Amino acid sequence: MKKQLISDPHFPIVEIFESLQGEGANTGMPSIFVRFGKCNLACPWCDTNYNEFEQWSLSQILAKVRSFSAKNIIITGGEPTIQAGISLLLDQLKAEGYFLAIETNGLKEIPSQIDYIATSPKAMYAEKYERRCIPFAHEVRIVADENVQTFCELIESKIKAEHYYLSPCEINGEMNLLDTITQLGQLNQRPNKPKWQLSIQTHKLIGIE
Ligand code: SF4
Repeated sequence: MKKQLISDPHFPIVEIFESLQGEGANTGMPSIFVRFGKCNLACPWCDTNYNEFEQWSLSQILAKVRSFSAKNIIITGGEPTIQAGISLLLDQLKAEGYFLAIETNGLKEIPSQIDYIATSPKAMYAEKYERRCIPFAHEVRIVADENVQTFCELIESKIKAEHYYLSPCEINGEMNLLDTITQLGQLNQRPNKPKWQLSIQTHKLIGIE
């Protein structure tokens, strides 16, 4: 159901597009990606131009989303949880029947409208996660940008999740796959601990957005 908009705030938007989810438990799911600008971290290997955005009004965002056919929306970034007024947008999308997934670094509270949480905590900011992070996610994805096993154990203790994934880090087109699966093996040979799985950014391998 389309609600009458009583205000039309603006949001920093990098891009909005329809594609297939490329990674994690929902790989292959047709999805609309709403990518916000700005981030509260600054990972050196970040592959998103989160500082190159334009201000879109709420009604512009809704019109773009409605032009696609997928019913799963992935709210991503940058970092979506730092966006002022995002609840107005999420309320509207929810009222129109969309399933709302978020991709977040997991440091800030998740808006209540979100149906599915994928979080990618960053090992280089371990101290921040020690202090405070979200307590639950449907899936955790950690990029193996260094020896991250101790960080994975920290995150297991902080964030309860249905799936834990380790992803290779890609720098200058090179993926550290051997190092990543070696760390996976180390994590998975611990008795009575969560099992970690490999998650690859398949959208990059097949050349889709
Ligand atoms: S948290 Fe994500 S969006 Fe932000 S700098 Fe790191 S990789 Fe980029």
